[in-house]
Amino acid sequence: MIPAVEAHINLTALTHNLARVRKIASNSKVMAVIKANAYGHGMLQVAKALAAADAFAVARLHEAVQLRQAGINNEIAVLEGFSNSAELKDFAHYDLQAVVHQPSQIELLRRNQLEKPIQVWLKIDSGMHRMGVAPETVPACWKVLQKIESVSTLRLMTHLASADDRCSDQTQQQLDVFKRATAGIQAETSIANSAGILGWPQTHSDWVRPGIMLYGVSPFLDGWGVDEGLELVMSLTSRLIAVSHFKQGDAIGYGASWRCPENMPIGVVSCGYGDGYPRHAVPGTLVMVNGIPTPLLGRVSMDTICVDLRQQPDAEVGDPVLLWGESMPVEEIAQSATTIPYEILCSVTQRVQFQYIT
Ligand SMILES: *Cc1c(COP(=O)(O)O)cnc(C)c1O
Repeated sequence: MIPAVEAHINLTALTHNLARVRKIASNSKVMAVIKANAYGHGMLQVAKALAAADAFAVARLHEAVQLRQAGINNEIAVLEGFSNSAELKDFAHYDLQAVVHQPSQIELLRRNQLEKPIQVWLKIDSGMHRMGVAPETVPACWKVLQKIESVSTLRLMTHLASADDRCSDQTQQQLDVFKRATAGIQAETSIANSAGILGWPQTHSDWVRPGIMLYGVSPFLDGWGVDEGLELVMSLTSRLIAVSHFKQGDAIGYGASWRCPENMPIGVVSCGYGDGYPRHAVPGTLVMVNGIPTPLLGRVSMDTICVDLRQQPDAEVGDPVLLWGESMPVEEIAQSATTIPYEILCSVTQRVQFQYIT
């Protein structure tokens, strides 16, 4: 049985993109970000393909534990750190690096005896105002952390809020805040996400933290992965399951929101928001039917989308459809659905059959 919707994960593209990171940030170590099931690509398979990374980063403890239980031995940093003693003990047990971004976490480190010391990244809020200790508290935090027996190597981290906008001055401001807050501290630092790596070389520092670019996608508001020398890792495919002819004025799909401007053939693709195709993709968003750009019409349903076959009246049931992939950038689908490629990739559902190819 051929599955209706398949996500093809090109592992060679993944290693190509890692090589691209190394080329661009040639003096930095690479912490490959594989949180949220590796941006929807499958965390374990991606971790194995990216074994050459200097470290991995995940958001949550349970993601890191899953990696360890699958036998992944790379360094792993947990971006949200721990929020109680039990979680903290797991960091020691599973040999995980913790990002410490709240004073309460420093208290937990002080109070708990661990089976072995753990590596800590002190995260500084340089202006994003989401997570991180206040810049003026860094010297005091550092002094306390240095004295804690449960802490081995200490490093410094911050996160950029607007690096995806090449015109924003916030990135340089954050860099200045970070430098001032950490002046006089001897430690490795990490600042850059994908947008920092590609757009802001002054943010590279000792460690870079690429996420989206590893998957072949541009982090910039109006950029394309291919223009950055990246190769798209995921392509989503399906096929036509119905072709019908309707008359001028016939309404198509839920809400009768789209009407045929003339007598015309309409195809139904077996892929909808229940597979992760964005429901907000507007009529006119292109999908490739038989390799030909074909506009979708009406509303995206849970299991299907309808397409306008006027350009290819010979299309038949069973014909191949590419929802996104090399010839249909996921960035374009995201724009059509007024979202970002990150969300589209993370939203591919369990129902989709994943195929890993090298
Ligand atoms: C998700 C994340 C990254 C990776 O960001 P991209 O934009 O996908 O490169 C880096 N650092 C932190 C702290 C993150 O949360």
